[in-house]
Amino acid sequence: MIVEVINTGTELLLGNTVNTHIAFLGQELFPLGLRIARQVTVPDGEDIRTALTESLTRADIILVTGGLGPTTDDITREITAELFNLSLLEDESVVKSIEERFARRHLQMTERNRRQAQVPQGATVLVNPFGTAPGLYLQKRDPDSQRTSHVFLLPGPPRELRPMFKDTVAPILKNLIPDGPNIDSRRWLVIGLGESKVEAIVGEDLLAIAGMELGYCARPGAVEVRTIGTQEMLAKAEAIMMAKLSDFMAGEGGAPLEELIVHHLSALKKTVATAESCTGGSLANKITNIPGASEVFLAGFVTYSNESKTRTLEVPAELIATHGAVSAEVAGAMARGALKVTGADYALATTGIAGPGGGTPEKPVGTVFIALAARDGETEVTQQNFPTDRGTFKDLTVQTALDMLRKQLSH
Ligand code: ATP
Ligand code: MG
Repeated sequence: MIVEVINTGTELLLGNTVNTHIAFLGQELFPLGLRIARQVTVPDGEDIRTALTESLTRADIILVTGGLGPTTDDITREITAELFNLSLLEDESVVKSIEERFARRHLQMTERNRRQAQVPQGATVLVNPFGTAPGLYLQKRDPDSQRTSHVFLLPGPPRELRPMFKDTVAPILKNLIPDGPNIDSRRWLVIGLGESKVEAIVGEDLLAIAGMELGYCARPGAVEVRTIGTQEMLAKAEAIMMAKLSDFMAGEGGAPLEELIVHHLSALKKTVATAESCTGGSLANKITNIPGASEVFLAGFVTYSNESKTRTLEVPAELIATHGAVSAEVAGAMARGALKVTGADYALATTGIAGPGGGTPEKPVGTVFIALAARDGETEVTQQNFPTDRGTFKDLTVQTALDMLRKQLSH
């Protein structure tokens, strides 16, 4: 089964939106025994026609994302109907569910929204409990090759596409592949060794497993070894990895940064504390999500007010008065204070302006200072700017803080 994905959206090509659909679909398809053979991103509008025409010549399953909305640039539905020579008919049940959705929100449904109820004749409607645009499933049989292409049109917003894929598309796909998957994948994260070194240690043995797919992927401070094959092949690979690289293993399956750090600190018998202002405890939360954190994580402080920074972390009130709570000086002092108060080997501190208010020309919304203090070393402070929503701002700050510690630990 050849699977192709067509992502539509000018914002994806402008770089305003990261294409998360492709990662999501790739991950969801694999356990079904399917893999994406090819993916293309096209701008909103007419380009989808060429992309779909091309895919129809090759693929058994085509997943199209985006362009089902009510605006004039959302023409995926219309173009597909044209290509399939199907007329668009208004679907009463879709009209009803859109009307109900608007009524629930006390909004007036417009004629534009009515367009979203147009269904190519014979297409299956995929219900969208989280938005107005339903998904559509169509089949097209090529008279020459006798091959049937299964085409799925899915909404652009991730919160709509993801549940729709899981709840309605995946079951249809499962039916198309009655045997189910017979292959699986396994990944290991090897820390502290370069890619070529890892390959030198295990490469030959892994390659000797006939029929297994093998890949290496360099990641920050780590190398991911990826294998795809039958359970028997993967068990052999596991045995090789554990025999030769167990000392360098972060845990299986592309472990996140915080896992790496907890393992690394634990191996080095070092400890960490956190002093957080703008991240409100997210950093401590991330670290403590990892089993084994209790061995390395001593304490986390959420010092949101100026007074608490002074009282809890001994940040001099004058320092705050002179430089402001959001400053390199205060970030550094918070980290050093946390070191002193807890006796940890490392301390991370965050202070920033999450917004939407509180920005100034010198320190606009999104400004953040992140400090890493080491008991036996200098305090490092980095300034970043993440002008986004509060949640993302926190995530990015936490990730940057963790990465500072990772770099420090891998020196
Ligand atoms: P709508 O009814 O919202 O117009 P739509 O099906 O037309 O739905 P789009 O307009 O293409 O979808 O996209 C809606 C939202 O989903 C946008 O915020 C867009 O950035 C986001 N989005 C679209 N495609 C992707 C993608 N591949 N990855 C991540 N986000 C995406
Ligand atoms: Mg749209």
